Order: sequence, then C-alpha cells, then structure tokens
Amino acid sequence: MNNTLPLLGTELIELRHALHRAPELSGQEEATSALIAGWMEEAGAEVVTGLGGHGLAAIFRGAAPGPRVMLRCELDALPIDEVPRGDWSSCHQHVGHLCGHDGHMTWLLGVAQRLARRPVARGEVVLLFQPAEETGEGARAVVRTKAFETIKPDFLYACHNLPGRPLGEVSVRDDAFTCASRGMIVRLSGLCAHAAHPENGRSPAMAMCRIMQGLSRLPLQFADETGLAMVTLVHARLGEVAFGTAPGDAEVMATLRTESNDMMKALAEAAVSLARSEAEEDHLGIEVDWCDAFEATWNSAEANAVIRGVAAQVGQPCHELDQAHRWSEDFGVLGRECHAAMFTLGAGEALPGLHHPRYDFPDDLILPGVALFEGLVRHHLNGA
Ligand SMILES: [Zn+2]
Ligand SMILES: [Zn+2]
Repeated sequence: MNNTLPLLGTELIELRHALHRAPELSGQEEATSALIAGWMEEAGAEVVTGLGGHGLAAIFRGAAPGPRVMLRCELDALPIDEVPRGDWSSCHQHVGHLCGHDGHMTWLLGVAQRLARRPVARGEVVLLFQPAEETGEGARAVVRTKAFETIKPDFLYACHNLPGRPLGEVSVRDDAFTCASRGMIVRLSGLCAHAAHPENGRSPAMAMCRIMQGLSRLPLQFADETGLAMVTLVHARLGEVAFGTAPGDAEVMATLRTESNDMMKALAEAAVSLARSEAEEDHLGIEVDWCDAFEATWNSAEANAVIRGVAAQVGQPCHELDQAHRWSEDFGVLGRECHAAMFTLGAGEALPGLHHPRYDFPDDLILPGVALFEGLVRHHLNGA
C-alpha cells in the first residue's frame, strides 16, 4: 500500500489507483471528497463543498461570458469485498470501487489537468463529484442544496463505463437512456391463530400468493404501450417459523421498472390497486411503502448530437442503442431543466459485469473518456 498521496499533476493511472485503494460507501465519501477538493484547488478551480453531503463542484471560468457546462461523476463505492488486484487493492474491508466510479472521477481529474493548462475561452465548466449515486439519494440531495442554484448547468453530461461492449465504444440514445425503477413493499395484516384452528384467524397466505402472481403478470397489461415495463419479485415473508401458529401477517417486495416516468406512475398505480383489492377480498389490512426510487434518464437530442460529433472528432466509434438500459441512475434528477445527456463508454467485451467482485475499471479507458469530456467542454466553450 502506498500512503503518500499523489498530486494532480501525476499520471492519471496513479490517481485512479489512489482512489481505488480508498473506497467509501454512499453518503460516507468524506476522505474521497477531501482528496478531490485538494486536487481541484491545485488546478486553480473554485471549489464548492457540502453538495448533498460530501458532494463537491469545481468551477473553471473562461474570460468571456457564456453557457455553463457541467460534467458529472460519482464519489461512492459499493459494500462488496473485491478480489485483490495489483498494488491498488482496496484498503477497506467489504468496500470496493466495483462500479468503476474511481475511473469516472479520474476522467474529470484529467479534464481538470487540461483546463488548468488551457482554460476555456468563455462560460464556465463545472465538474460535479456527486455523492451517493448507488442508493439513488445523491442527485436529489445535491439538487436540494442551496448552492446548486449557483451552479445549475445549461448543458450537462455524464458517462458510465460499460463492460461487455468493445473498449472505447460510445453508446448513445435519444429520449430514454436508463429506466425508472422503484421498490414496492406490501404489508398485509390479518389475525394469527392456532395452527389447529386456522378458521379462528385471518391468514394472509392466499392473498399473498395472488398478489405475487398478479404483480408478475401486471406488465402484460402494458404490452401495447411503447417501452419496457417490468415487475421483479425480490422478497416475500409469511408469518413466523412456528408450526403451531397460522400466520397473521405477510410482506411482499417487488421492484418496478419502466422506460418513462409516466409509465412508472401508471404501473405503480396498477400495482397498488391490485394489492388493495386482493387484501380486501380476504378482509386483510394493507400498507404500501416505496423505497429506492429512481427517475428515468431522458436524454436531450441536442446534447446527444454534440456527443456524436465529439466522438467522431476524437475517433471513438459511436453506437446507437435500440433499447434503454434496464438499470437505473439518479442522473435524471440533475438534468431536469437543461440539455442533459448520459452516454456509456465500452469497457471491453471480456470483462466481468459492474458490481462483480472482480470488476476493475480498465486503465486503458481513462484517456478516451478524458478526450470525450474535454471535447464536449471545448465544443460549447471554445467556439466563436
Ligand atoms: Zn453501480
Ligand atoms: Zn455506477
């Protein structure tokens, strides 16, 4: 392990390895944030801290007025034990940068190095290091922070690395890019009884089964609409492990996933009404709660056109996705009022998937990402 922290002027590979060694969980990214703040000051940026927790923004200004372009990356790592790798293995047990956010931060560090050497002509570049992306909390918390008003962008870009696609391949899609998703928790309450006399109680067992079947079939009702609608059952519990007792309560949990926020609203309403009617049929009490809500990422055609142009300029192939990614992202919250687009950069076909204990952001992907982001910034802020 290397205890001396590198300076921003160091090779980007070294910076990524330094970030990889010291991963922090969502909402706890204090040391990572402090490290980045130091590097951004070194680059001559104005640093805004405390954005939605440990989030921070680095502002680089051009001499003339102009639009504000924000590039966003994520600070957080995952509660997963990684398989050891070179001398950049995680120093923290049960925490690892297995989504490649260490690489995403390194892209923006590379942009900062280049902006320090050659400032933009006009406008402002804001490098946003967002906290708590993995829990879906971070972007909302950043937007709620008062200081966000002062850095609200006109154009906003983010990129996620994507194992399974060729290294350096850019993927874009107009409109839906990643799905909306949310966790549904259905709690049923009846009355427990002696297992020898279940007729004296009200067991939620049958309603629970009907709700599980009904929720699984629910997406078929939306088959005519465009775009994806999915319900995945993730957990269920009935009563207690007690052979003398007929159960009096049950819980069913499912994840709902759709391509658009409107479709999510419709699917969620249908799911609640199905659960309520099954509970009523068996005279059960019912409570429905929601958690882990993500909005869909909706890409602006104008911002996407810029990405396609810059990809061609820097010589990266650009692939048009036929379908939105099924996974969710909280990026959509940041880009509601501006031209925002998220794209992916292929990390290599033979790599394990994101969140896999063996996943490691490929160092060969650092420079292509820096070139793309720098190209986006200069497109908007170095032109006439
Ligand atoms: Zn992730
Ligand atoms: Zn990620």
